Amino acid sequence: MRRGFGVVVLGSGAFTPARKPAQVRNPAGYAAVLPKGLLLFDLGFGDLWQLARCGLRPAAATDLFLTHRHPDHSGDLAALLFHLRYDEPPRSGRLRLWGPRGTAAFVAGLRWVLRPWLDPRGYRLEVRELAAGDRASGPGWRVDTLAAVHPTAALCYRLEAAGRRLVISGDTGPGAGLERFAAGCDLLVLEATLPAGQRDPGHCAADQALDLARACRPRRVLFTHLCAASAGSLRRLLKREKGLRARLAQDRLRLRV
Ligand SMILES: [Zn+2]
Ligand SMILES: [Zn+2]
Repeated sequence: MRRGFGVVVLGSGAFTPARKPAQVRNPAGYAAVLPKGLLLFDLGFGDLWQLARCGLRPAAATDLFLTHRHPDHSGDLAALLFHLRYDEPPRSGRLRLWGPRGTAAFVAGLRWVLRPWLDPRGYRLEVRELAAGDRASGPGWRVDTLAAVHPTAALCYRLEAAGRRLVISGDTGPGAGLERFAAGCDLLVLEATLPAGQRDPGHCAADQALDLARACRPRRVLFTHLCAASAGSLRRLLKREKGLRARLAQDRLRLRV
């Protein structure tokens, strides 16, 4: 059997649209296309449409992992649930929605203000909160969690499936302990929100992301949550980089892990 699985970048950007059309990136969202099943990690605004553009059926997702509640990571949750309510034929089985502390109240609140349009029809919606260190699992996969450094409860996720390990940082500043959590993983999807030299405790600047990536020693790293300035910084820094297999994420990029 072929080992590994597919990763699709729905959105490689963050929370602010670029001024130049060519630099616009959708907010954070990733799909893991497993031998059996489709897992989603974040679904920022616009990413439901990105799924369709990538040829992936939203109803095929069995589990959605939110790293945190910021709209650039969760903005299309309402759109997804709305779609599933009216999709034909109706989805069956269950959709599990995972996230850090606060996720259950967040989903309940969304459903309340938009009632009844997000209520499941034909399937079960199960919302499960994860604390740092908790593990989620499904057929042929498991997901481990690490507390991110961010101004709200946020998690980094490590997916192990088909003999491969994928780590998605979500939003985090340095200091979360990714060096251990992501050590030797097959693909590290790492945020690099700010241009080199800028500092924000809840995010990585390009230079910090590069240092962190080196310390994690992944087989490959994909920098994401980019803006035009951080992408520019990374391109300059990576010209001098030796030894690290790194690239910048782009919307609708497909990789095999
Ligand atoms: Zn973000
Ligand atoms: Zn955030």
